[in-house]
Order: sequence, then C-alpha cells, then structure tokens
Amino acid sequence: MPATRKPTLAFFDFASCEGCQIEFTNFGDAATLELLSHVDIVEFREAMTETTDQRIDFALIEGSYTREEDRARLAEIRKRARVVIAYGACASTGGINALKNHQDDFADYVYGDDATMSHLRSGTARPISAAIEVDYEVLGCPMSKEELLNVISNLLHGTRYFAPTYPVCVQCKRRETICRYDEGDHCMGQVARAGCGAPCPADGVPCEACRGFVEDANLPALEKVLVERAGFSQKRAVGKSRMFTANLRS
Ligand code: SF4
Ligand code: SF4
Ligand code: SF4
Repeated sequence: MPATRKPTLAFFDFASCEGCQIEFTNFGDAATLELLSHVDIVEFREAMTETTDQRIDFALIEGSYTREEDRARLAEIRKRARVVIAYGACASTGGINALKNHQDDFADYVYGDDATMSHLRSGTARPISAAIEVDYEVLGCPMSKEELLNVISNLLHGTRYFAPTYPVCVQCKRRETICRYDEGDHCMGQVARAGCGAPCPADGVPCEACRGFVEDANLPALEKVLVERAGFSQKRAVGKSRMFTANLRS
C-alpha cells in the first residue's frame, strides 16, 4: 500500500525583516518537532535551497504587500495553495512597515547614491489580504508560535482555529504576572489582541500590541492611561498606540 502523502508547507516572503521565518528555525520544542513530523516543508528560503512550483497545501506568507508587482506573485501563490496563512504582523496587518505610510521617504537619507536600487522602490505597505484572499492570520511581531501551532494542528485535524477576541490582559492575569503599571512602567495589553499568552509582561517588558488591537478598542482611554499612569506626553501616547496599527489609522 502506498504511504499517505503528508501535507506540504512552504514559506514565502515579501516586505519584511524575515524575522518570522528565522523565528521558526529557533523552535526546537517537542510540540513543534511533532508538528514537523506531519508535514513536508517544500520551500523555506531561510533554511533550505529547494523551491517548488507545484501545488502546496499550506502557504505561509511573510511580509507586507508594498509594490504592484507583488500582486501577481501573491496571486500565483494563492492559485497554488490550498490554504493561505498570513504569517506575522507584516503580512496580517501591515505591521510596523505601515508606519512608512504616514511619513516621508528616507531612502535618500539612509542609502545616499544607492537609494535608486530597485528593491528599495516600494509604495504603501498593506496586509497581503489587500491583494489576495487569506484563510488564516498568525499575528505578532514576530509571529506567535502558540498560534502557529494551533492553526496548523487544527488544519491537520480538519478543524478550524479561532483566535481569541479578548485582550492580552486576560492572559496576563491568568499567569498572575505583576502589572507593568504597578512597576511604574507602561503597557498596551488592555487593548492588544490576545493569543500570544502574554509573554512580554511575564518577561518584565510592556506589551506593545504587536498583534494589533481587539475590535472596538477604546483608544482615547488607552492614551489617557498612558498619560496619567505612565507619565507619557499626549504625543508619545498617540505615537505608541500607532506602532503596530498604522495601516488601520489615518
Ligand atoms: S512581523 Fe516583525 S519579525 Fe515578522 S517579518 Fe515583520 S517585522 Fe519581522
Ligand atoms: S501588565 Fe499589561 S497586559 Fe498585564 S495586566 Fe498589566 S496592562 Fe494588562
Ligand atoms: S504580549 Fe503584546 S507585545 Fe508581547 S507578543 Fe503579546 S501582543 Fe505582542
């Protein structure tokens, strides 16, 4: 009897630091290794030289959609993939790349005469869902391992993963972490979308809402807390709250 074919998984990258792909190579825990035994990775630029032009079961797409020519490549991946997963904040929400949508182009300042290099030419940073249909988002900067494993293991079982819609504070409280505000710090876990398990406050650093915000996040209240409890200026409070949500803001 022929062996059952394992689902294939491929990574693709667009405008990004590729940190989400690199992060994957850091996972050596039992749950990830178990997951890897159930899939065949057929393309992963950070870790192997092989590529594929065949059909793929799971396409993990990292990075933002920033150039018109990206659209054709994204559409081609979409056509070949059974399931498309936006992998990390850049791909899911535009992430930190979207800050560029609200400021001048600093390419000349940073690169001088090399600023004309073709790969530096880019437009508005958007999530890949602006170009193609996306089936799942694995949020975070870098993406959350917990969420990635949940998405893939559900797919392997033929079920669907639903990300939490409540804020990071809920997961933080469950861990009994001392609140950053009680340590004289700031935090945006009140409005950040949970699903990561609140690792940042547990490690003694603020939640910067890298997974974006819950629906109907009360931003005036967040800014008020950042000003009144963390001593931020109003300008800094507004800037802080935009860090990972610039694509969604005017
Ligand atoms: S989400 Fe963050 S870590 Fe991942 S590619 Fe974008 S900037 Fe890099
Ligand atoms: S540390 Fe942050 S996430 Fe945790 S309870 Fe306080 S505000 Fe919420
Ligand atoms: S705690 Fe906040 S900053 Fe840290 S991974 Fe979760 S959403 Fe991102």
